[in-house]
Amino acid sequence: MVAGEGGAQGIVPYGGSVMPVAIALPISEAERTEARSRSGGACVRCGCTIACFCRAGGEEASPAFLLCPDCMAIIERGGVPAETIARLRDVPVAIQAGLDRSPLLFTVEEQIPDIVFPGGARMTGTYCPITVDARPLLSFRPQPVPGGPIVMSLVLGAVDEEPDLIVKDSEWRPASDAWHFERRGNRYRFSHRSGTALLAFAHRTADEIAIEAMRGVFGNTILEIGERGTLLNNVAVTIPSVRSQLVGVHL
Ligand SMILES: [Zn+2]
Repeated sequence: MVAGEGGAQGIVPYGGSVMPVAIALPISEAERTEARSRSGGACVRCGCTIACFCRAGGEEASPAFLLCPDCMAIIERGGVPAETIARLRDVPVAIQAGLDRSPLLFTVEEQIPDIVFPGGARMTGTYCPITVDARPLLSFRPQPVPGGPIVMSLVLGAVDEEPDLIVKDSEWRPASDAWHFERRGNRYRFSHRSGTALLAFAHRTADEIAIEAMRGVFGNTILEIGERGTLLNNVAVTIPSVRSQLVGVHL
């Protein structure tokens, strides 16, 4: 699902009724804040905190709400009854008791999770684990509301493309549909269809995110993190364990 212009896409005919859902653009900062709060900080259907701002299409004045790319795709295929979407919009799963929050990126109090790298390096209380050429790739900050979603941003660059801020403050907003986001349980995957840009991690416990693979192209620098360790332009580099640093490692 692309964070493109709103409009008539995403119209879902169901049982004779229509529940059009479209990306809400343009959307003011005040309305983003309101939509986040109303949605419980997460996709109204599954609770995923990486989500887009949506609106019942054709209803310019209707309040915006959050849907993750996976749920947007299911809705676009007509897989969710219009009545269900309307009910979820009014009573989002993230504000319902009984939602299993363990796979989801919610904070424990005001902590940000430890980031663990392949090979075992651990970054604790580190808001920006990695920068490449002074560009922060992955960053986290706690939500002002204890127990609220972790605020995550992600920059990745694919070959022959400028690096793109594909997640901004937990909003999925890539500039092109070449980017893909998928969550399966506690495993998250952000990828570019060229295969040259990827972040895959598992939210193993409430206070730990384990990076499984990360790669991207940033100008003349190619970063690859995986089972072979961390490679910068094919040269091995060491990711250190750090505690309470603004930036974990400059590469
Ligand atoms: Zn969802």
